Amino acid sequence: MTTNKTIELVREGFANGVAPGGTLTDEQKATMINAAANAFGLFLDALKCDWRNDPISMETPRRVAKAYVNDLWAGRYTAMSPITSFPSDGYDGIIIERNIPLTSMCSHHHQTIGGVVHIGYIAGEKGQVIGLSKLNRIVELFGRRGAIQEQLTSAIHNAVDKITEGNKGVIVTIVGTHNCVSCRGVKHQGAAMVTTKASGAFRDDANNARKEFFDSLKINNGGHNI
Ligand SMILES: [Zn+2]
Repeated sequence: MTTNKTIELVREGFANGVAPGGTLTDEQKATMINAAANAFGLFLDALKCDWRNDPISMETPRRVAKAYVNDLWAGRYTAMSPITSFPSDGYDGIIIERNIPLTSMCSHHHQTIGGVVHIGYIAGEKGQVIGLSKLNRIVELFGRRGAIQEQLTSAIHNAVDKITEGNKGVIVTIVGTHNCVSCRGVKHQGAAMVTTKASGAFRDDANNARKEFFDSLKINNGGHNI
């Protein structure tokens, strides 16, 4: 089964979702980069930055605009390729991918968020499984839109939930460090935010799925303890 429409349902009610008008063509992106570069130049002017006469900075407005459109907010302007799911063929255990790298941006302060995402789901005997790298792609799609971590956790959870139709449960945990905390305001280095969104078996304390998920994250996990 190949589907993309299910994941796009996630944008409903997601304030930092796909930009109105949907996926942009290369030409539309170039027009957007030009407009954003002009606007960022004015932003620097307001800050009394003499960027126009500094050979190091004269292309900075364009660099910043390109970074937003092509990287930091790419998930708003670039569609993800369709995701194919497969019958689980009787496998009814937990499927976990941990330590998925996260680069995102907090939509409050436009400072970057770094961290890792751990995703688990149970397909069930008649459920659907997806290729492992698709979980990474989902993290990229929603991470690169700008969000607060709570929204991002829900968005990734809901996307996995919809694509693995018939699942017995989905759990998503994000461990994020926010530059808006470390570089501005309180200026605390090293503080990490942990958010978890769980459904189905992972919310039910009567079975061990939630415990198994968190226990799995502790096994030789390269130092990303939670
Ligand atoms: Zn922030």
